[in-house]
Parts: sequence; structure tokens; C-alpha cells
Amino acid sequence: MYFKNIVGHEDIIKHFRSSIEMNKISHAYIINGEVDSGKKLLTKAFVAALQCEEAGLEACGTCKSCLKLASGNHPDVTVVTHEKPNVISVEEIREKVVEPIYTKPYESKYKIYVIPEAHLMNVQAQNALLKTIEEPPEYGIIILLTSNLSRMLETVLSRCIVLNTKPIRERDMLEHLVKSLGLTEEKAYFCLDFAQGNLGKAIKLATNSEYVQVIDSVVGVLKKIQDMDVDDLASALEQIQRFKMSINDYMDLMMMWYRDVLMLKVTGNIDKLLFKGEYSTMKKQAQVHSYKAIEDKIDAIARAKQRLDVNANFDVTMELLLLTLKEI
Ligand SMILES: [Zn+2]
Repeated sequence: MYFKNIVGHEDIIKHFRSSIEMNKISHAYIINGEVDSGKKLLTKAFVAALQCEEAGLEACGTCKSCLKLASGNHPDVTVVTHEKPNVISVEEIREKVVEPIYTKPYESKYKIYVIPEAHLMNVQAQNALLKTIEEPPEYGIIILLTSNLSRMLETVLSRCIVLNTKPIRERDMLEHLVKSLGLTEEKAYFCLDFAQGNLGKAIKLATNSEYVQVIDSVVGVLKKIQDMDVDDLASALEQIQRFKMSINDYMDLMMMWYRDVLMLKVTGNIDKLLFKGEYSTMKKQAQVHSYKAIEDKIDAIARAKQRLDVNANFDVTMELLLLTLKEI
């Protein structure tokens, strides 16, 4: 819950700190950025600093307010949850934000409402919130977190301060992964390439055991794809269905595989490979495929990703992808 512990995001931290310093806190913020990019950490540090009894530019960590926040029991800070996985309803926004915000804070200077995945608010919910954002009580602050700004109403956007997270510098991420998490450089580079500037994503890959299974599955499928018959393809598809929730990551790892094959074909250099353990398979694939074939495979994966983004049928998209990867 401290700004000083956050890797990267200097611009947003600077914005928060100077608004505290000048006592110019807005009533409504949107923090926009991809999943795991640090939105919650930034919010936590900002909220803690705002509510801290010491009233400095950084939370003290020891006052009553800081302790309550750390334990998740601050009476003047609400993180808005929702019942259904894919929508935040107007009733929820009314009941959890719009109505209670007009009751004065119990003990702190501000009353703060954080709405994660704010793009899940339907139009009615956003309109209900809009009225509060337009006429907030003096002590009220609403912080919306989103990974999909395009689903927010223009009218809401125009009344909020929008802060976009940016990719974190590679050397900062590397230092954190190696020094703080104790990864080997080899593993750290693997995570870096996968995460593309998103530290939370890199940490997940490094520490979450489910990812080991995802990587195993990707390697298992791509190693053999060329020789698969109809039955093999069906069982590969079945396997991929188990990772439906992490399908974006699954496909990022698939692309990393073929970028490795391409790199090996171009340079013949094993040192830069991310999937070093699979060197002999990669070497074979690099020999039998033309540059264009490898690039076409990477394109096919990128296209499948885009299709799933716009809610194309999962099974059809993945089946088509596997067939394409096999045929090219
Ligand atoms: Zn404090």
C-alpha cells in the first residue's frame, strides 16, 4: 500500500502525489490498463495515502486508518463487488455507491468507492453513477478500474480524470523478478517476453502453478502438431478447452514458441531461445519450415486471438487454429 514499493508507473504516482500535495483531489478517477498491470496496487497506495491520519504524501502504515485498510476493514473505503460474473447492475451501483455515499464518512476525511472491472457496469448502472459523479458530496471519491475503456460511456469518461497505465521498463521488471522474486535470469527473461511490460502478468507466470500446466500443454501440442491425425487434434482441442480461462496467455505462449523457431532459423543461436529445453524439436521445426511458413503460423495465432476478443465461438476458433497450424 505504498507508492515507494510500486515498480514503474511513475507518471500516475506523480499525478496522485501532486494532487495530494496541492490538495486538489478529484471526485472521480478512471485507471485504465490491461489485467494485472498494477491498477489495484496504484489504487491501494492512493487510497491509503488519502485516508492516512498522518496526511503525508505516502501512507504511514501504522495509524488506525492504515491498519484498518491493511486488514480490509476500513469503514470509509468500499470496494464494490458484484453478483453476476459479467455485469455490474444498476441495483448494485445504487445500493453500494449512489445511496451510501451521501452518508458522511465515519472517521476519515474521505469516503472512497473503488469499482474494479468498471466496464462491466451496464448502461443503466453507468447512468446512475453519472449523477453521483456530477454532484458528489464534498468528501466523496470514486475510483473506477477498467481494462476496457471503450465500454465506458462518453459522459462518464468526460467527468473523470483518466489515467492510463504504461508498460514497465524491461530493466526494472528484470531487477524485480531476479532480486525480489529470486528467479534465475533465464526464467526472468521467459516471463519478461511473455508479459510485455506487464509486471503482474510476469509475476503470475513465475509463481502461479497453473501456468506450469499451461506451458506444458502449449509445448505438448506444438511439438507434435505437424504429425497429428484427426484423433490427436481432437484430444489437443479437448486439452486446450481446460485452459479456456487463460486462453489469451495460452496463445501468447504459442506465439513465443514460433518466435523462438524463427529466431533459431535466422540466427542458429541457442542462447536467446526462451524454450531452451525444447532445442532439438525447435531445430527440426526451423529446418522443415520456411520463414514465411513460420510467420504465417504466428499470424494465424494473432488472428485467432482477435476473433476470441470479439466473442467468436471458442471451439470453432481453436479447431480452425490447430488445423491451420498443422497445414502450414
Ligand atoms: Zn497512516
